[in-house]
Amino acid sequence: MKFTGIKQIAQALRSKVISVQELYDESVQRLNTYEELNCIINTTPELAAAQIKKAQTQIDTNQGSLLTGVPIVHKDLFCVKNTKTTCGSKILENFVAPYDATIVENLNGAGMVTIAKANMDEFAMGSSNENSFFGVVKNPWDLTRVPGGSSGGSAASVAAGISPIATGSDTGGSIRQPAALCGVTGIKPSYGRASRYGMVAFASSLDQAGVFARAAEDCAYVLSEMCGFDGRDSTSAHVAKEDFSQNLNKSIKGMKIGIIPEWMDSLDDKLKNQTITAINKLKDLGAQLIEIELPKAHLAVSAYYVLAPAECSSNLSRFDGVRYGYQCDNPKDLNDLYVRTRTEGFGEEVKRRIMIGTWALSAGFYDAYYRKAQKIRRLIADDFQSAFTQVDIIAAPVTPEAAFEFNAKKDPVSMYQEDIFTIPSSLAGLPCLSMPIGLVDNLPVGLQLIGNNLAESTILNAAHQYQQDTSFHKLVAEGYDE
Ligand code: GLN
Repeated sequence: MKFTGIKQIAQALRSKVISVQELYDESVQRLNTYEELNCIINTTPELAAAQIKKAQTQIDTNQGSLLTGVPIVHKDLFCVKNTKTTCGSKILENFVAPYDATIVENLNGAGMVTIAKANMDEFAMGSSNENSFFGVVKNPWDLTRVPGGSSGGSAASVAAGISPIATGSDTGGSIRQPAALCGVTGIKPSYGRASRYGMVAFASSLDQAGVFARAAEDCAYVLSEMCGFDGRDSTSAHVAKEDFSQNLNKSIKGMKIGIIPEWMDSLDDKLKNQTITAINKLKDLGAQLIEIELPKAHLAVSAYYVLAPAECSSNLSRFDGVRYGYQCDNPKDLNDLYVRTRTEGFGEEVKRRIMIGTWALSAGFYDAYYRKAQKIRRLIADDFQSAFTQVDIIAAPVTPEAAFEFNAKKDPVSMYQEDIFTIPSSLAGLPCLSMPIGLVDNLPVGLQLIGNNLAESTILNAAHQYQQDTSFHKLVAEGYDE
């Protein structure tokens, strides 16, 4: 069952070809077989046992949803009740969530079976999954290479067939980048679509939950259940629940797709060719390609690396060793408790961001950095709005290169440059996805589709039509195909 889609799984469950328990056992067996990937931090057998029982009863009595009995892995920043939620950090190593995140509650309600919590960059800060307290995640396509970050464990779990579905979060690219580098499909909805309640905060004005699957079709089914207004998240979008699979089968004939020549020209030849081939396939399917410009997008990385650290410095102040999480041994006094708890509990990248953010927000520098970055953010959002007067969606690269080797990015700024194509749409709060478009030197690469605000079903439509006509999303790394 490992590489089949949700519809096939649902059918097999309902026609009794397989039971919910057998499906779960298969996932656990693969998880153990591919342990060296290190894509999982904790398993959730007790929760799964209860969910399996309930799902099987629903299936036996012809109840439940399309997702009932389907296995899922949650990125370890979503609170799952009575389960450890580490966020990839020592500071939360033993934190047991007392409640479910809204998106977890929604997916539990749909009958999904939780297998495990996925490894990730600490507090979702990173582009390669090399920043986890629990060790790096390896890319199933080449174990010497990164899976992309920060949702690397989620993407690798789907790529290795451990789970057909995984949740992730995306602040500046953390779903799209690992999806591209592991050869799976991943979508980040519009800001506000998915509730942030129960999702450990990094940069609250950017953080969004999303989903990984092999195919866009499955992303649509899961995203539809995940999203919806939630009064417990003050930035939740006041829009009705939507079925994102509604347009999947529509023809994309006449769809206007924006291309950014400047972005394409910055790619190396092989990646550029692969990207052009994918875009031409969309054209063959009837789309109209239109060149567009995003004149301020080149400022996105600089603005983001002021804004995201600023928000993180504020959000992460709650980890003080008093209320929950790690506490240092034998503190001399309160100040010693704060300083040592945070020094010992946070990793290097997280501390770097807290310091940069605190500095950017300090009285003397606020106008020079934070306010200026906010202005740039608005200009970038305006660029997208003017582009969307000409086109329906935008097609762009996801990453500047395929998966790189561990420790290849020695300085933080070169790592930040990996986010060059994913951050602009994040700053604008737009829905965007990455879908597999083939291999470059035997490593998967992706194409990014960006939609206007709340236009998830349009980008999913284009991705699904592409996947109906190609089979790149079905490619599996050698050794994972049994
Ligand atoms: N790579 C970006 C960062 O390190 C984005 C991470 C994310 O989307 N969570 O901040």
